[in-house]
Amino acid sequence: MTDDADADAKGRREPMRDPSYDGAFDAIVVGAGLAGSAAAVTMADEGLDVLVIERGRYPGAKNVFGGVLYTPTLRELVDVTSAPVERYVAEKRFSMLSDDDETAVSLRPGEWHDPPHNDSYTVLRGEFDRWFAEQAVDAGAVLLTETTVTGLVREDDGRIAGVETDRPDGTITADYVVLAEGGNSLVSEGADLRKPERAENVAVGVKEVLEFPERDEVIRDRFRLSNDAGASYHYFGEGAVGDAVGGGFIYTNEDTVSVGLAYRISDAAGSQPKPEQTLNAFKSHPSVAPLLRGARTVEYGAKTIPEGGSESIPKLVHDGAVVVGDAAGLVLNNGVHLEGTNMAVESGHLGGEAIAEAAERGRTDEAAFKSYPERLEASFVVQNLERYGWLMERVEADRDLIFEELPHALADAGAEYFRMDREPKEKHAEEARERLFETVGGLRGAAKLAYRYREVLR
Ligand SMILES: Cc1cc2nc3c(=O)[nH]c(=O)nc-3n(C[C@H](O)[C@H](O)[C@H](O)COP(=O)(O)OP(=O)(O)OC[C@H]3O[C@@H](n4cnc5c(N)ncnc54)[C@H](O)[C@@H]3O)c2cc1C
Repeated sequence: MTDDADADAKGRREPMRDPSYDGAFDAIVVGAGLAGSAAAVTMADEGLDVLVIERGRYPGAKNVFGGVLYTPTLRELVDVTSAPVERYVAEKRFSMLSDDDETAVSLRPGEWHDPPHNDSYTVLRGEFDRWFAEQAVDAGAVLLTETTVTGLVREDDGRIAGVETDRPDGTITADYVVLAEGGNSLVSEGADLRKPERAENVAVGVKEVLEFPERDEVIRDRFRLSNDAGASYHYFGEGAVGDAVGGGFIYTNEDTVSVGLAYRISDAAGSQPKPEQTLNAFKSHPSVAPLLRGARTVEYGAKTIPEGGSESIPKLVHDGAVVVGDAAGLVLNNGVHLEGTNMAVESGHLGGEAIAEAAERGRTDEAAFKSYPERLEASFVVQNLERYGWLMERVEADRDLIFEELPHALADAGAEYFRMDREPKEKHAEEARERLFETVGGLRGAAKLAYRYREVLR
């Protein structure tokens, strides 16, 4: 059953005519993002009556993200052949930017051209989230849009037994609640299920979608792509985000590009210019501007990204409720990886599975959901968050070296090594080496640096 019968051709919905949701469902999912729809599909497949509540006009309407969707769990849950993806990622490129230099490494493994394309696709969330929520509806869930959950219903013993909403009839009770409200988790915080994240554990993400009047061929030509292959470009250094810890990105969609930055909010609040200004400076960098020439901005959004890693994961299960996705801080954002979509789908699925198992036994106590934290801990989600927990601390300690000195030194050393003049090459090689050693503290310093970051390759 869906209330989409009330939707017009553009997806706009009339206010609900039938307000009788209270007590009509086994489970309520707060938020039709990736984690919420994954939980809804899983529970509906297990025969539960599921209500998904989304504050946006449609799922994805309020969602901001970079844009690469990682699909290893998703394609186990739903048939992805009809999913609205833009391009598969055929190239990952990492660049160090100083104010006017770029030093880059590009990866284009041939196997990424073959399905399932390393499970990496650019998507636009306005389209993708809507499609994913439709899969939940096809599985039997009911989707209620333009409705904001404002709080949780608690029994006298503290058990969570439903939600308060901004609808006229307000309260909707159910045995189970899945909190999938994303990183700005006001409902969970309001109910004391998690504390507001410390500023050093939160990044601000800003993103624009740019359109090229000449459309598709421009993207293929500029990014050296064929057919539906795409590229994800990642940028570090002061040319990307000034003094902040973080980076920039460009992702190719079918006929637009997504361009943005993600950097620590404590830096954004300091001496750093406003995010829009930092983004404009990044787009004007001499290595970036030619890729975007002639494009015009058709969308702008900003959002926070939890990046506290495994240390910041709150309690995941409560009597009557589970917390999944960004609401549980499940994002790997460490400069090398920015992955939250795969973690959202995996955690939503595991949380939904735990609820279905508890429902089977007629239980709503938190111990009945314990398979969720246990399976999450054994999964790539917690394992990856734990593995890279050290990285952000180390990057913070080395921030001047990594974001400022190294981009300059790499560019200078490269320019020196390939300098064309009448000197012997040996002289240039020696000067290039000296320029690098001066930055990292000689051979010993280079060895220490490699040792400090050895776990990236382990
Ligand atoms: C700039 C940026 C770039 C990123 N780039 C990438 C990337 O390239 N690849 C990647 O894997 N990850 C990326 N991420 C992270 C990724 O977007 C998230 O990890 C992922 O979207 C989390 O999914 P979610 O379902 O938990 O939350 P969300 O996608 O945030 O969904 C939450 C949903 O809940 C709804 N909602 C919130 N509060 C309420 C309420 N009170 N009542 C009703 N509905 C509510 C929202 O409208 C939304 O639809 C990026 C994030 C940002 C900000």
